[in-house]
Amino acid sequence: MILLSSNDMTKLGCGECSGCSSCCRGMGQSILLDPYDIFQLQIATGQSFAGLMQEKIELCVESGIILPALRMQSETDACGFLNHEGRCRIHPYRPGLCRLFPLGRSYDEKGLHYFLLEDACRIQNRTKIKIKKWLEVPALSQYEKFLAAWHDLRKEVQEQIIKRQSDNFTQKVNVQMLELFFQKSYDTEEDFYQQFEERKETADKLISNWAE
Ligand code: SF4
Ligand code: SF4
Repeated sequence: MILLSSNDMTKLGCGECSGCSSCCRGMGQSILLDPYDIFQLQIATGQSFAGLMQEKIELCVESGIILPALRMQSETDACGFLNHEGRCRIHPYRPGLCRLFPLGRSYDEKGLHYFLLEDACRIQNRTKIKIKKWLEVPALSQYEKFLAAWHDLRKEVQEQIIKRQSDNFTQKVNVQMLELFFQKSYDTEEDFYQQFEERKETADKLISNWAE
């Protein structure tokens, strides 16, 4: 697997997915959402987390942690943000995993890397594009820093859950994390990263209390 940085170029260009919406259909609960995605969805729809939960997203369990994911609609088995022309209705605010495909992310002590999921995209003969252009995320280095912090936090919580082996503890932790990072609305007029940092400080305190 070749690890890439956001400044690298790789074969991603697929003609803006024209005629194809394969990544938005039949995805089960695989399009997991992080706090930045929820912040973006709040801006795109004007809905709170509870409002999004009515129809567009659902909760799933990923390695013991409860996380939101895009919900495939029962009638169509497609994402609820896909329009009749097979285009994304919230394209500028689409979640990180939608932006990423057909790339994957990998984390190590040096931070975040990308890798190409060979043959994942249906379009053959893709053109080379710089990863940062493909992602179209403003303030990319800040975003990557957030992703690495969110990844580490999830890992820490998972380790605590595995260590305790207690259903009560797992439930308590999931309730606290969901409330802190997802259910409590973000102020969409304010900087996301600052709000995340404040919540992360609270989470760090919770984690050190659990560890005692
Ligand atoms: S949010 Fe948009 S890009 Fe992502 S799965 Fe839904 S329709 Fe597709
Ligand atoms: S399979 Fe490729 S072309 Fe089709 S929607 Fe996904 S990224 Fe776009």
